[in-house]
Order: sequence, then structure tokens, then C-alpha cells
Amino acid sequence: MKIGFISDIHSNWEALDTAIKKLEKEVDEIYCCGDIIGYGPDPNECVNYLRKSKISVLGNHDAACVGRLNYDNFNPLAQYAIDWTKENLTKENFEFIYRLPLKDNLEGIGIVHGSYRNPLEEYLITYNSVFSNFQLMDKNIYFFGHTHIAGVFIYSPENNREIKYLSLVKGGEIELKPNYKYLINPGSVGQPRDGNWKTSFGIFDTKKNIFKVYRMDYLIEVTQKKMQISGLPRPLWERLSLGR
Ligand code: ZN
Repeated sequence: MKIGFISDIHSNWEALDTAIKKLEKEVDEIYCCGDIIGYGPDPNECVNYLRKSKISVLGNHDAACVGRLNYDNFNPLAQYAIDWTKENLTKENFEFIYRLPLKDNLEGIGIVHGSYRNPLEEYLITYNSVFSNFQLMDKNIYFFGHTHIAGVFIYSPENNREIKYLSLVKGGEIELKPNYKYLINPGSVGQPRDGNWKTSFGIFDTKKNIFKVYRMDYLIEVTQKKMQISGLPRPLWERLSLGR
């Protein structure tokens, strides 16, 4: 089976549309690691599409938009975008987001937004956070999002404190080996923060055990124009071009 992995769409329809056009030609299912909404101008278009996908887990921005997470400590621009999204989300889409699980799984693979031990809020970015999660994980492979950085943490069974990291900022692939543990981030569809503005997503071939990340151009100017017209703060649409 081939599974498409997307994450952190953040209401960017043009980026999602580019990703799904590629994925729908190649994969059997699409799974989302959360943050469908928040920041961008098209929350309903993005949720409408995700309602058809097999699995999506709840992200912190999703949770904030439907009252499942207090967002007083979010930065002011993110708070503004959450308030804007709350006003614009349809009732059906609100209910869909409200019911999303914190974790999900398919055979041997777990899916979360932030991390295994704190699915909504932990950023897997420091050695300690990654190491602790590798110790706790109930499956060898977890897909996650939240950092908006495409890459894979690799835990080797031979040396139990060694963690390797494979950056997928420019795309690329990795063959997953048995007995190793992996924390895999397909990158952000709608707001990459790894220095590459191009939309990011992945395909996992469960037969060959190969995970591959794709980075593709999308109609970024269209998204930015919509954000401008919607009155979303300038730094939020400017950052899309920077990939930050
Ligand atoms: Zn996010």
C-alpha cells in the first residue's frame, strides 16, 4: 500500500490542491498529521477535502479554533488568525474538527501532531524531546507535524543513545529498517518553516518500506492575495515566501 502523508495545511488551499493532485494519482489513502486550519484564507475548502480522507489527527491550531485548547499564550498573529478562522468556519467543519482524535494509527504506524507523549503541544526539535519520545513510543514508527520542518529522526537499536537526523528540506527518501525507530515529519503543506517555501508532503510505500518527501511549487501569489483581501496580517502572508 502507498500512503500519502500531509501535515500543517493551515488553510492554504493552493498548496493543498497541489499536494493532493500529485498524491491522488499515486496513493491508496491520505493521512493528515493535524493543523488543517489557522493562518491561511481557506479553512472551509481545506476541511471539506480532509473530511474525505481516512485519518486526520487534531493539531494545536485546530484545537484552538474549536475551543479544545486555550490559546492565550499563542503569538498575537496566530491568535488573530484563530479568531478570524473561528468566525469563518462552517458549523459542519467546526464539528468535524471538534471530533478529531489526538492520536491515530494504522498497522505498526502511529500518527500525532506534536509528539507521542504530548500530541498537541510538544515540538520534536531538541535531542531530549526526541530521545524521550523514542523511549516511550508504543510503535516503531510515528508520523508527526507541528514543527513545519521536513525530516526524519532515526533511533538505532545498536547504540541506544544515538539519534541520527535526515533533513528532507529539498525532498528525498529513506528506506526504513526493521528494529529501528523513526519519527517522521512530512513537512508542512501550507506554511513550511524549513527555509524552503515549496509545499511539502510525503509518500510511504509500506511494501518497499520507503518514505519519500516531495517539494513542489504552488500558486503562492494566489494564497497571499487572498490573505491580503481577507485582512489577515501582512507578516503571515509574507512569511510564506520566506519558508519561515
Ligand atoms: Zn502547524
